[in-house]
Amino acid sequence: MFDKILIANRGEIALRVLRACKELGIATVAVHSTADAEAMHVRFADESVCIGPPPAKDSYLNIPAILAACEITGADAVHPGYGFLAENARFAEILAEHGVQFIGPKAEHIRLMGDKIEAKRTAKRLGIPVVPGSDGGVGNTAEASRIAEEIGYPVLIKATAGGGGRGMKVARSAAELPAALATARAEAKAAFGNDAVYIEKYLEKPRHIEIQVLGDGKGGAIHLGERDCSLQRRHQKVWEEGPSPALNADARAEIGEIVARAMREIGYLGVGTVEFLYEEGRFYFIEMNTRIQVEHPVTEMITGIDLIFEQIRVAAGRELALKQSEVVLNGHAIECRINAENPVSFRPSPGKILHYHPPGGLGVRVDSAVYQGYVIPPYYDSLVGKLIVHGKTRTECLMRLKRALDEVVVDGIETTLPLFRALVREKDVIDGNYHIHWLEDFLARGGADQ
Ligand code: ADP
Repeated sequence: MFDKILIANRGEIALRVLRACKELGIATVAVHSTADAEAMHVRFADESVCIGPPPAKDSYLNIPAILAACEITGADAVHPGYGFLAENARFAEILAEHGVQFIGPKAEHIRLMGDKIEAKRTAKRLGIPVVPGSDGGVGNTAEASRIAEEIGYPVLIKATAGGGGRGMKVARSAAELPAALATARAEAKAAFGNDAVYIEKYLEKPRHIEIQVLGDGKGGAIHLGERDCSLQRRHQKVWEEGPSPALNADARAEIGEIVARAMREIGYLGVGTVEFLYEEGRFYFIEMNTRIQVEHPVTEMITGIDLIFEQIRVAAGRELALKQSEVVLNGHAIECRINAENPVSFRPSPGKILHYHPPGGLGVRVDSAVYQGYVIPPYYDSLVGKLIVHGKTRTECLMRLKRALDEVVVDGIETTLPLFRALVREKDVIDGNYHIHWLEDFLARGGADQ
């Protein structure tokens, strides 16, 4: 096992990793920008190192500074959290070259899944169902239109290097295709410096359902059920829950086993998430995230398995301690991502938290790094914290969530709490009757304004 882990992240995920390390008796090193000197992850770590000024490119993305921090402190492993360097294959290789273990998948798998076309090809080869579409990148408009005719309109143009929903454009007819193609390319070029795009059938009202996996890199891999992340705004997840209201045990076992088998075949190491769109009883692979995800607590609450602990164990070379049959889903969990944003305009609202009271009680978990008097800096994401609620049934979970949301106090900044208080009272949400566009439709009709 590792002696000392450096956590190359900030905010709630840095704290989350720190907690797992403490329980394992592993010493911790926090790194931070000058803007985060007073942050909770810095206060709770055994040691801390300042790695640069506020902009992420000069601090949390500054590989030489992070390497130096490893050397100074003698850390033997790095946990990247999510975002920042978590899916940077080169970072994992550089650490290895310096004798430091990256707590995450093998570099080759990070690279493979980071290229969406290669990821889709691999998924197909491994027997994972994919969205019908081009087999690779599309060249000119003529080729694109031939493929679009073949799969049928509407189609979606997506950036090969995509992320965060950028570089994605829908074309509903042949007439719309040239403009959609040009816009997607331009957006992809601006966002990722790469204008390669591919085409997929556009699914009208699918759900977003993702399968959590865990592999030991030696051919052992299991799945830990699914999370339904269909409630999204601008392709960003807002509310996540598990199990999905749309799946039964047979459907879950079937897709879960397909994914686990694929992970065994490639010798996947660490935690990962295979993301699908789900429509009319069918799954369509869209991408794989080769890291711990923001919404991992949903799975932890219903399985009782500490995913960060498992991630550290397998990174240290241990074999899987869990068998598929030991993963038993218990009850229901919902996570709300509470952001420092205006709940109607979603304009960021950084600033000082004047009063803070987190909710409590049975089945209520708050993963957050804020405290009363904390100033949310304007440089990073606007996550205030995640409220995760567990209940024996989905109905109990919703009742508990409503109660917990009413208890939270975050004063001094604007937050998206009012949106969640509205959502938990919406009939479609209560019925579990929603798809990936439901939330945008709800917001467009002014559902959250009050
Ligand atoms: P990114 O890496 O940019 O997040 P994804 O491929 O994961 O891109 O897709 C993000 C979101 O875009 C999905 O959760 C879904 O809401 C939507 N989406 C992606 N592919 C399709 C598709 N073929 N049809 C309809 N919606 C899609």
